[in-house]
Amino acid sequence: MRKNDRGVILLCEAADRLDKTVWCYTELRGLICGTAKGAQSGKNRFGGSLEPFNEVELVLYEKEGTGRPIIESASIVDPTLSLREDWVTALSLFSIAEVVIRLSPPQVAQEKIYRLLKAVISAARQRGDQDRLLLYFLIWFLRLEGYVPALEGCSRCGAPLTRGGEIFHSWQEGSFSCGGCARPGDFPLPPTFHLFLRTSRALSPSGFSEISIPGEERVKHFFWEMARRQAGRELGALEVCEKTRRYACKGGGIQP
Ligand SMILES: [Zn+2]
Repeated sequence: MRKNDRGVILLCEAADRLDKTVWCYTELRGLICGTAKGAQSGKNRFGGSLEPFNEVELVLYEKEGTGRPIIESASIVDPTLSLREDWVTALSLFSIAEVVIRLSPPQVAQEKIYRLLKAVISAARQRGDQDRLLLYFLIWFLRLEGYVPALEGCSRCGAPLTRGGEIFHSWQEGSFSCGGCARPGDFPLPPTFHLFLRTSRALSPSGFSEISIPGEERVKHFFWEMARRQAGRELGALEVCEKTRRYACKGGGIQP
């Protein structure tokens, strides 16, 4: 059956001599992995529309039960050519694409994730703090996909996790606890953790990338680690992002 949809291209790679495999987050279907027939040939009708982070109008054809649509055509709604000229921005966007590909269930549409992707790509154009933009994305995305546990009370003693108090996260139990109940191996979060969740909820990506909250490094580490653990593997682009940032912080000398 032939259908129209709109999506953000996440990744596009050669499938064979003629076709390309395209990962795309669409408005009506969520994450799809489709085949663009003939996209490798010299006379291909896709032009540059399948480049990562373009927003495109798609015509899809899907045989029932195959789970893999054929991309019949794609036309650009919003191009992102200028973004890819800046490697810092590109790296942070490739990390975002990788997280979506690894952690979004296929063909489950979440309109809020689609809107989040568009908002973050649009903010990336303004060349703000790309690391903070990535953090903003991760906080929202991991929460929307249900990976972030509720921050209501300590999962072990039930005490409220008040602002300013110590908070720990257990990877085994997937829950938060207070300082008194923390066990070895739990991940310590800064007392400002509440503030990160609240501010990301209240602000746009650009607004969030302009503010500085103490404890940011710890919180970044927490959400990056959460993405990696949920993916069950290293995330290459995220890894490079982290190493590059450490390199910049220390003025050289990438740490192992
Ligand atoms: Zn407790």
